[in-house]
Amino acid sequence: MELSAPDLFTGTQVNYYFICKTKLWLFSHRITMEQSSDLVGMGRFIHDTSYAREKKDVIIDDRIGIDFIKKGDTITVYEVKKSRKLEKAHKYQLYYYLYYLTEIKGVKATEGVLDYPMSRERVTLTLTDAVKQEIAGILENIRALVSRDEPPEAEKKSYCRSCAYFEFCWV
Ligand code: SF4
Repeated sequence: MELSAPDLFTGTQVNYYFICKTKLWLFSHRITMEQSSDLVGMGRFIHDTSYAREKKDVIIDDRIGIDFIKKGDTITVYEVKKSRKLEKAHKYQLYYYLYYLTEIKGVKATEGVLDYPMSRERVTLTLTDAVKQEIAGILENIRALVSRDEPPEAEKKSYCRSCAYFEFCWV
């Protein structure tokens, strides 16, 4: 498989790196399954109804899909999520958007907000030099992982049942 440059991953891939390495590999190799989960539908509903008046779905390079951006003195990137259960994956997905804008596109966007409208909570993030280094390392790890010929062995997780790959891994 031809490798991508480390800066060419999607936010979803960075998210999956934290959720499940098997999922990341399958998704990166374009192995897709029907998305019939109610949770997926609910997530879309929350997104669509919470920000009807905001500019959303900012697409950059056909690769980065940002929920919406607010421009004041600085640019703030918003990512809307259903619950804080997978917050670490959410955080690094958003950090990656900030990294991509700042390091790849040359747009200074170091502030991010994770928005959880169902619980009315917000988590603010700042892209620091330390986080940039961390992201660079994560991108290298993703590149190494997706270049493998076979997916990493599946490991059971509490959220496997709501994963689109459940049947692939466990049935
Ligand atoms: S079903 Fe579980 S192990 Fe399989 S890809 Fe999904 S999260 Fe990973």
